[in-house]
Amino acid sequence: MAKIFCVANQKGGVGKTTTAVNLAAGLAQLDQRVLLVDLDPQGNATMGAGINKAELQASVYEVLLGMSDVSAARRRSESGRFDMLPANRELAGAEVEMVELENREKRLKDALHAVDAEYDFVLIDCPPALSMLTLNGLCAAHGVIIPMQCEYYALEGLSDLVNTIKKVHAKLNTDLKIIGLLRVMFDPRMTLSQQVSAQLEQHFGDKVFKTIIPRNVRLAEAPSYGMPGVTFDPSSKGAQAYIAFGAEMVQRIQSM
Ligand code: ADP
Ligand code: MG
Repeated sequence: MAKIFCVANQKGGVGKTTTAVNLAAGLAQLDQRVLLVDLDPQGNATMGAGINKAELQASVYEVLLGMSDVSAARRRSESGRFDMLPANRELAGAEVEMVELENREKRLKDALHAVDAEYDFVLIDCPPALSMLTLNGLCAAHGVIIPMQCEYYALEGLSDLVNTIKKVHAKLNTDLKIIGLLRVMFDPRMTLSQQVSAQLEQHFGDKVFKTIIPRNVRLAEAPSYGMPGVTFDPSSKGAQAYIAFGAEMVQRIQSM
């Protein structure tokens, strides 16, 4: 049975997609069987896995609306060695169309059930909003990975996310936990980064992952080649950090 994790933070540009794609590729390098679900209509994870979002036969949109199952809609990311349930702009319509459906916040959970046994990890890249799509991600998951930059405003908005997770836990999904805060785009030369990082450790203790993802240009360049940074330049500092994060996640699920 797969362990299912959302990569979530309602802020945009904080490194969710980079984390989802590179953790998927990092886990694949550690011989884990991975399905990456793109739950953002921007389709950045889809493109980052080398899949053309303009040419999808089926996507997570059809899956959520019950017009396709996961096994028909998923694709193989050749470079990253993981499977991908892709998304494109069509998905934006799902928010409204799902309103009329029964059990609308559990559509993804129910759909993933059919492929559960085929994977060790299912990773869900959430959109930058606490929307019905994100809610579907949270209802399907065992845990949430929260990427954050160590900057002055890092903690602003975190309480909204934490409150949402608490509500989902209480009402919809008692499995759901915050697995951890992941420090991303880290610049060790900045005193402020060091300070915020230390504060996070102080406040959140072992909810802060040990692995720190540095700011690394190779991670930012990789999507334009349709590859995860981990496969694009495996020896880069960014790639190495995501592989280390994969190992940390493998260790974490052993105690779950
Ligand atoms: P989100 O999915 O939260 O909107 P992204 O993963 O798309 O965030 O990242 C936002 C931008 O920051 C992208 O241009 C991405 O390439 C860049 N980026 C993310 N992580 C890193 C990193 N560790 N080093 C350098 N650039 C990064
Ligand atoms: Mg994104």
